[in-house]
Amino acid sequence: MNDVTLQASVLRNYYEGLSRGVFRAMKCSRCNGITFPPTGCCEHCGGWDVEETALSGDATLVFATHNITPACHPRFEEIAPYVYGHLQLAEGPCVQAIVLGVEATPEALRKVFEAGPVPAKAEVLKMADLDVLAFRAKA
Ligand SMILES: [Zn+2]
Repeated sequence: MNDVTLQASVLRNYYEGLSRGVFRAMKCSRCNGITFPPTGCCEHCGGWDVEETALSGDATLVFATHNITPACHPRFEEIAPYVYGHLQLAEGPCVQAIVLGVEATPEALRKVFEAGPVPAKAEVLKMADLDVLAFRAKA
């Protein structure tokens, strides 16, 4: 399998899992590092001996903001304005994703900021053309 075919396969499996509420990453058999979003190699040691693993979906929201600029893709216009954040997955990697459960207002974001890191749980956002990973803050 060449690199392009491998990456296509990894992405296809990622989105197939997402459509069923399974959050896939890659686990390295050399260093045990978790790579997310999944790719064909380990982001920690560069090794190619990785295999799929399911994430718990547990995360910590460490930063959140709202998008006051136009959505990054037309598919997101229907949910704008929305909150976008940085989350640390229970398994280690940090990701950026849409955050559900927090109103996209300065007041609501201030409450989240003042509360400090809050727990969040992965959720699938069903868009018209694509399932998207999001996290629901338990603020
Ligand atoms: Zn590794």
